[in-house]
Parts: sequence; C-alpha cells; structure tokens
Amino acid sequence: MSLTNAFAGSLFMVVAPSGAGKSTLVNALLAQEPSIKLSISTTTRPPRPGETHGKEYYFTTAEDFEQRADAGEFLEWAEVHGNYYGTSRIMIEEQMKTGTDILLEIDWQGARQVKKQFPQAAGIFILPPSIDALEERLKKRATDAPHVITRRLLAAGGEIAHAPEFEYAIINEEFAVALSELTAIVRAARCRFAQQAARNASLFAQLGIHAE
Ligand code: 5GP
Repeated sequence: MSLTNAFAGSLFMVVAPSGAGKSTLVNALLAQEPSIKLSISTTTRPPRPGETHGKEYYFTTAEDFEQRADAGEFLEWAEVHGNYYGTSRIMIEEQMKTGTDILLEIDWQGARQVKKQFPQAAGIFILPPSIDALEERLKKRATDAPHVITRRLLAAGGEIAHAPEFEYAIINEEFAVALSELTAIVRAARCRFAQQAARNASLFAQLGIHAE
C-alpha cells in the first residue's frame, strides 16, 4: 500500500432505499462526529416543505444541471425518481485535501461512479429490518404524494439489488445499534494506514516510516 494518499480526508458513501432511516442515522452520526462534513448535493427535485436552498440541497433547473454535468462539474450525478442529483467535484476535492472527512448521501449509481475515482471511499449500505418496515416508514413520511411513495417503494427493490456492491451493510432495526455500527466503520476507516500517514505526515517522517 502506498504510504501517501493525495487526500488526507476519508470519504464515506451512505446508500439506502428511501425509508431505511438513512437521514436520521446520518444526522445522528454528524452530531456525534462534528469533524465529518456532509456534502450538499445539487438537485432538480423541487424543495419539500421546510427544505432550504443550500442546506438540504442546492435546488436548480434541469437545464442548468445538464449544462453543469456537461461541463464536468459533478464528481458523480444520476437520475433518481425522475430528478437529477449530483455531487460537486471541486467542493469534495478541496475539502479532502485539507483533511476533512466527507460523507455523501447518494444513490447506488453515484456510489459506483465515486468508487471508480476514489477506490478508498467506504461504501455503506443501510438496510431496513423488513420490507413491511420499509413500507410503513415510507407511508409515515407525509411530505410525499401517494404516487411518489409508490414510485419510491418500487425503486427500493431496485436499490436493494445493488447492496452487494458495498463493503459494509448495516441493518437499521435498533437505531442505537445501527448508529454504533456506523460510528465503528467511520472510526476504522480513519485508522487506515494511508489515511493516518496523510494526516500525520510529520510524525510518520519523524518515526522514519517511509513509502515502500
Ligand atoms: P431525496 O429526494 O429523498 O432527498 O433523495 C432521493 C435519492 O437521491 C436518495 O436515494 C438520495 O440518496 C439520492 N441522492 C441525493 N443526493 C444525491 C447525489 O448527489 N447524487 C446521487 N447519485 N444521488 C443522490
């Protein structure tokens, strides 16, 4: 393994079907580990009540999104549930160079694109404890129209089919257990040799640890 890593920060991708409780888990992780920064994606989906531009997402038009995608502004982008979603390349690269850990809440298509460019990115898939629990959670989310819920439930099956592409799987049955598993993955990734070497370059030099 190479001692040096161009990016000192770790990259985490958390993927799940809607209704698996991904956002609640991620928010709890971020509250507990303030050094991790959540990437704010750009989307053409209209804001849900209570969502603010620049907080949950950067909201834009399909025309603007397509222009930016063509210009290569996105590290990854995909069409999900009929809307475009993308991750800003410059934002991720700049933050990771300065040693900031970044978490991406994206779909499987985006995760695949990121993995090609950052093989060290940790892919974490959140699974619901049962298909009934998934349906129940989707119905309780009153912000989406019934046809949107149906579309998301159908899409959930498609998303879950890609779970084997990920290194980590968390079953979100008991929230506290799921959160501690997510925390463990994050902490282990930070201890990877290359990440430690990039973050602690002068210590490694002082100890005489050199790249092979
Ligand atoms: P929602 O509309 O519920 O916020 O998100 C719908 C889906 O889009 C979720 O699976 C979410 O992970 C995914 N998503 C959000 N942002 C991005 C992104 O930047 N890229 C990709 N590929 N998917 C995203």
